[in-house]
Amino acid sequence: MYRIGIDLGGTEIKGGLLNEEGEILHKVSVTTPVTDGFEGVCKRIAELVDELIKMAGLQRESVKSVGVGIPGLCDERGFVYIAVNLYWENVPLGERLRQIMGLPVYIENDATVAAIAEATKGSMKEVINGVLITLGTGVGGGLILQGRAYSGNHGLGSELGHMIIGENDYNCNCGSNGCLETFASATALVKYTKSLLKEGNFNSKLRHQLKDNLEDLNAKMIFDLAKEGDEIATKAVNRFIKYLAIGIGNIINLLDPEIIALGGGVSKAGSFLIESIEAEVGKYVFFKKGKRHCKIRLAELENDAGIIGAAMMGIKRED
Ligand SMILES: [Zn+2]
Repeated sequence: MYRIGIDLGGTEIKGGLLNEEGEILHKVSVTTPVTDGFEGVCKRIAELVDELIKMAGLQRESVKSVGVGIPGLCDERGFVYIAVNLYWENVPLGERLRQIMGLPVYIENDATVAAIAEATKGSMKEVINGVLITLGTGVGGGLILQGRAYSGNHGLGSELGHMIIGENDYNCNCGSNGCLETFASATALVKYTKSLLKEGNFNSKLRHQLKDNLEDLNAKMIFDLAKEGDEIATKAVNRFIKYLAIGIGNIINLLDPEIIALGGGVSKAGSFLIESIEAEVGKYVFFKKGKRHCKIRLAELENDAGIIGAAMMGIKRED
């Protein structure tokens, strides 16, 4: 039997046909027809599924399920409350796709899907309780609890990026103040570093690299210079690490997971990121005396995590 995974994004729809072991056999991607609205996007997903079945030379009956990871919030049946990038609000995605395709369809938030992928083939393989934190433009989260993906009673949980961990000098996109995302995303790191550069009291190679064009600043540059001990970069990264460690400490105190995996663009800072977090997180963990059981490591799957996790969702829901 085979499974299809769809990674639905605001700019691109990526799809893959996988065997039961989670290996991708065929892959396709198309531009998301956002301006064609909900119906247009549903049709495009169905066409992509047909194309994958045709590429593999399979009968439709050989496909056991289609999973879709979405950039938004939905319930267990695949009713989407909101997907900002797609301009969707309250649309019955699961129901509509089941109608058009005549196959079992499972839908989940993309961060949860990425956690399922890590739990199937990546950093959280065979882990019973694990948490994936994605550090990118924003901060996302996916929970695997007792071996299953968990996003709460109404599909509104595991929003780790919106844990309130302090007071910040600007509000989060969600309207709250002090969300983890406003301290520990690439966006937050760049924003804070810019404010330090504007203060002007520090020595930094960043000034030479940017030649006064602050718009070119990115998280990679900041982490790379922090590794070399640059003054501004170090100050900015230290603040980033402090708040991420508070967030991780909260997660450990709440869930006591076996593994917390860090993914997303910022995780490319690699062992430097892990070692910095390890050095800081102990301050925020309730049980300080014994050895810390929860391991913090890098996520392993990159671009294909969305496809793999979406396809494997079927297995997680059926067993
Ligand atoms: Zn928020």
